[in-house]
Amino acid sequence: MGILQVKNKAPEQTLRDIYAHWLKAKRVSALLVPAVSSLGVATPVLISDPDKISQVSPFLPVMSVNGASIVAAIAAKGVPDTKVAAVLRPCELRAVVELIKLQQVSRENIVLIGMDCPGTYKPGQGIGSGSTSDLTSTFLSAQDGYLKDERLRAACQMCEFPTPLFADLSIGFLGMNPKESLYVDAANEEGESLLEGVDMIPIEAVPDERRNYINRFIEVRQRVAADKIAEFDRIGLGAENLVRYFANCLNCHNCMKVCPVCYCRECFFESDVWERDLEEQIRIVSRKGLNRMPAGTLLFHLTRMNHMMTSCVQCGVCEDSCPAGIGLSVLFKKVSRNAQAEFGYLSGRSLDEPLPLTTFREDEFRHLGEE
Ligand code: SF4
Ligand code: SF4
Ligand code: SF4
Repeated sequence: MGILQVKNKAPEQTLRDIYAHWLKAKRVSALLVPAVSSLGVATPVLISDPDKISQVSPFLPVMSVNGASIVAAIAAKGVPDTKVAAVLRPCELRAVVELIKLQQVSRENIVLIGMDCPGTYKPGQGIGSGSTSDLTSTFLSAQDGYLKDERLRAACQMCEFPTPLFADLSIGFLGMNPKESLYVDAANEEGESLLEGVDMIPIEAVPDERRNYINRFIEVRQRVAADKIAEFDRIGLGAENLVRYFANCLNCHNCMKVCPVCYCRECFFESDVWERDLEEQIRIVSRKGLNRMPAGTLLFHLTRMNHMMTSCVQCGVCEDSCPAGIGLSVLFKKVSRNAQAEFGYLSGRSLDEPLPLTTFREDEFRHLGEE
C-alpha cells in the first residue's frame, strides 16, 4: 500500500494521467470508468483512446447504473489477451464478485479498480447547477458533508461500505486531503503491476486519520440504516402490509432489469408461462369477483426477493428506477442483510466464500427448528 502524490492539487487529472499511461503502455486494452459525455451527461464509458481521457471522471458522484451490469454485458465470456480495467464503487465491485461466482463474468478479462465512495446522486437530481467537474471538486473536499447530505441516493445514505471490500487495486480519498495525496492499495500482482512507475510513497499501514475517519463514517451510516429499518419495521412485513407497500407497483419490472445480480437470461415473469389470455383472466377474476390489475405484482416481488436476497449488494438502483417511487432500498437492505446474516455470508466480500444456496451445512438453521 502507499500514498499517491497528487500533482498540481488535481486528483482527477492525476488519475487520468495514470489511466492514460495504462492505455498507452497497453497494460490494459480498455477502461470502464465514470465519465461526462460531450453533452454534459454523467455516464460510464468504455475507453481505449488515451487522447480522450479528459472526459473521464473517476470520482464522479453520480450513479445511473450499477457498473457490474455493464461488466456482465461485456465480459460474460473469456477472451484471450484482453484486459479491461473496471473502475468501480464498492457496491459495484461487490456485485461483480457475486456475478463471477454466479459464472456471469469471466474473471480473466477484468482488473478491478476499487474507488472509495461516500455516496452518489441520481443523474440530474439534487446536484445543483454547475459543471460536473465542479461537482467532483466540491464533492472531494466535502469530507464532513457526506453524512449530512440528504440529496444522496437513499441506498447511499444507509451504505456501510464506503471502501472496496474486494479489488485488485483500491484508490481512496476518504480521510485524506485529496488535493495532496490519495491512498492506494494493491491486493495482488495484477494490482501491483498497474502501480509500476507510479510516483508513490510506500506505507506499512492505513494512515490513522483515514482509518479513524472511515470507522466514524461507518458508525454513522449504520445508525442511519438502523433508523430507516426501524421506521420500515413499524409498517411491518406481514402479507397485508406488503400488499400495501407494493400497492402502487406498475409491474414494469424496471427494478429487476437494472438489478446487477438479477441475472437470469429469461425471467419467468416475462416468459410465455406467465401470460394469461382473456379466458384465463376471466376464470381467475371469477373466483374473487375483482382483481387488481396489473395482477401478480406481489408474487413477482416475493419471488424476486427470494432469488436476490443472498446476493443483493444494497446498491439501490432498483429504487432509483422505480416510476412508482416504492422504497425498495430499505426493503432490500433489511431483507438481504438478514438473509445473508443467517448464512454468515456477506455478498461481494470475497471470491472464496461460496454462495449460500450452493452449499449445505448440516448444522444450519437449528435455531429455526431444522433437525
Ligand atoms: S450504495 Fe454505497 S458504494 Fe454504492 S454508490 Fe452508494 S455509497 Fe457508493
Ligand atoms: S435488489 Fe436492488 S439493491 Fe439489491 S442488488 Fe438488486 S438493484 Fe441493488
Ligand atoms: S420498478 Fe417499481 S413499479 Fe416497476 S415493477 Fe419494480 S416496484 Fe413495481
